[in-house]
Amino acid sequence: MSRHYQIVLLPGDGIGPDVVRCAVEVLDEALAGTGVTVSYSTHLLGGAAIDQTGEPLPEATKEALTSADAVLLGAVGGPKWDRGPGHLRPEAGLLALRKALGVYANLRPVKAFPALLSASPLRADVASGVDVMIVRELTGGVYFGERETGTLASGERFAKDTMYYTESEIRRVVQMGFEAARLRRRKLTSVDKANVLDSSRLWRAVVEEMKEDYPDVTLEHGLVDSCAMHLVTRPQAFDVIVTENLFGDILSDEAAVLTGSIGVLPSASLGSGAGLYEPIHGSAPDIAGLGIANPLGTILSVALMCRYSLGLPEIAARIENAVEQAISAGARTQDLALPGQSHLSTDEMKEAVRKHLR
Ligand code: NAD
Repeated sequence: MSRHYQIVLLPGDGIGPDVVRCAVEVLDEALAGTGVTVSYSTHLLGGAAIDQTGEPLPEATKEALTSADAVLLGAVGGPKWDRGPGHLRPEAGLLALRKALGVYANLRPVKAFPALLSASPLRADVASGVDVMIVRELTGGVYFGERETGTLASGERFAKDTMYYTESEIRRVVQMGFEAARLRRRKLTSVDKANVLDSSRLWRAVVEEMKEDYPDVTLEHGLVDSCAMHLVTRPQAFDVIVTENLFGDILSDEAAVLTGSIGVLPSASLGSGAGLYEPIHGSAPDIAGLGIANPLGTILSVALMCRYSLGLPEIAARIENAVEQAISAGARTQDLALPGQSHLSTDEMKEAVRKHLR
């Protein structure tokens, strides 16, 4: 195969530049000799962008996005920028970035590594074999619906937020859920609160209409409260979960702790254009510059990039296997090591993964 892709790198702040550099080296190793080539362009985002240009998402970065096949982000933020006005915070750059890319679905796979089961808050027999992906709607629902804060004639204060969805907003993210299930174990759990909410009843009706197009995927509906419970009592029962924004926000954080460390978890945000790939952790200012950050979440994010944006599922699987083999062979960064256990630096962990790709 001879293909070429353009990847925009947004290292960001704190540990972001370190983990992005490692993920790029791993991707290059995985692509060596395959005929697939990539070119990278590195741009500013977040606090680093505020320092250099006065804006969290500068024009030059926006411009670069227009010709990208995929975007790899490290992390943004840090105490240095916490006191600025809202629109001049690093997080504002992240929101503007998602908007500029038009991404509307966030995919978060959570997989238990057998060698790391002791780090899970769950009993090993419950956490063992967990391999779930949460597909969360990103641009609708109560976070973006009409809102109002005011005072009633009686003088009592009130506030309201509206959970609003159109059927096309539901359809496009549910389609992403069905497609993701097809690339995995072909089971989709659609999560809602259809016993109470109108928006959930519409959600469920749309999912029911769509299931005809995916006869090869087993579909089940679940209520968000019981899903939250089942995620910790029988997490192995799930393959792909698709749900609206607020429910997904909560469930994806719940799922993130099932396997122990946030340092190993990747994510993808997808829409109609270039996908955005990033580890789920933040900029970890407490360990920035120490060379001990875990790069695996970002390395696994480039695996997702290969699968969902570059059409390279075999390369994705090779990277994921290499990470699993490195962990099985005992490679641990500080966040994964048991007390008293020796641990690797960021670069040493990256090399441990590269070794299994050669
Ligand atoms: P965080 O994820 O940065 O850190 C939480 C804890 O986990 C810290 O102790 C940190 O050292 C550790 N940790 C995180 N990633 C790690 C890694 N790869 N290897 C080893 N240890 C790791 O969350 P926080 O401390 O709440 O936030 C720090 C900054 O990051 C804040 O400014 C926040 O706004 C920002 N943030 C950014 C994003 C993003 O860019 N998408 C996401 C979350 C938080």
